[in-house]
Amino acid sequence: MEERDIIIIGSGPAGLTAAVYCGRAGYKPLIIEGVPAGGQLLTTTEVENFPGFPEGISGPDLIINMRKQAQKFGTEFLMKDATSVDLKTYPFKIQAEDTDFSARALIIATGAQARYLDLPSIHAFRGKGVSACATCDGFFFKDSIIYVIGGGDTAAEEALYLTKFGKEVNIVHRRDKLRAEKYMQEKLFANPKINIIWDSVVVDLKGSENGVVGKIVIKNVKTGELTERVADGIFMGIGNSPATELFKGQIDLDQNGYIICRNGAKTSVEGVFAAGDVRDPHFRQAVAAAGTGCKAAIEADRFLQGTG
Ligand code: NAP
Repeated sequence: MEERDIIIIGSGPAGLTAAVYCGRAGYKPLIIEGVPAGGQLLTTTEVENFPGFPEGISGPDLIINMRKQAQKFGTEFLMKDATSVDLKTYPFKIQAEDTDFSARALIIATGAQARYLDLPSIHAFRGKGVSACATCDGFFFKDSIIYVIGGGDTAAEEALYLTKFGKEVNIVHRRDKLRAEKYMQEKLFANPKINIIWDSVVVDLKGSENGVVGKIVIKNVKTGELTERVADGIFMGIGNSPATELFKGQIDLDQNGYIICRNGAKTSVEGVFAAGDVRDPHFRQAVAAAGTGCKAAIEADRFLQGTG
């Protein structure tokens, strides 16, 4: 059993900011990074709203910079998944694949992952034309007919990125108004490759001869009309679910599985703090995640000072 003062699970902007603050407070935090490391920013092309970067910065570059900063202040990185946690004993026990740790304070920054429509054909064609990551898979859809599902910023960002590859990009949105911010909407409306299919939902996918997606069946929710269209790629942009499987039954979660925090970053278990998208169903911004990472680190320090 390896003993640590502070363990941080997760290596997105929340976890890395927590590490910078813990390091500067005199600890040697361990980040269990998760595989792949870096969180959602790693698949974000351009971050234009993180203060301090007036020209914008790519998601991976932002993470690399934060990682360097955390390293500079003594963070230890472990590129493994946390596979189990025991918050009922103190110090807390955390297993990362084949290594066991104990921690006097724990910061959970495990983030959230893309949701998929819950249709049998969507699950069946995952990796065969269905994706939730345009930056990872867009390249495979050169000159293709692409569909992006959803009407928020993720869908808008995915659609805009995919215009680099596809010959047409159709957004399927269940309402007649987008949720995406105005600036993104204007970019969508101005792009000649983008077409928005309003008031519509996906009801089925059909395969092509070679076993990948070939058609999409869309239903207009106002008229009930069903349309079958040729489709080569389907990208999910319908939001995220928090990565809290490890903590179920040990810590208070809301009805959607997000960690409930009280007084800043405190969870229902004393000594356990949460930061970033794993506790944030509303804002889900890199800068908001970094902010709660800072709060979690300061509160972890205060907790350890009080008991240590
Ligand atoms: P979101 O804002 O929750 O939007 C999800 C979209 O998917 C909504 O338009 C929703 O429709 C639709 N949707 C949800 N469930 C659906 C279902 N079962 N069937 C069909 N459509 C469904 O999620 P998000 O776009 O991932 O954004 C999350 C947060 O991250 C937001 O705060 C956003 O601003 C932020 N974000 C920011 C950026 C950026 O700043 N560049 C990029 C990505 C994300 P309704 O509109 O009808 O609810």
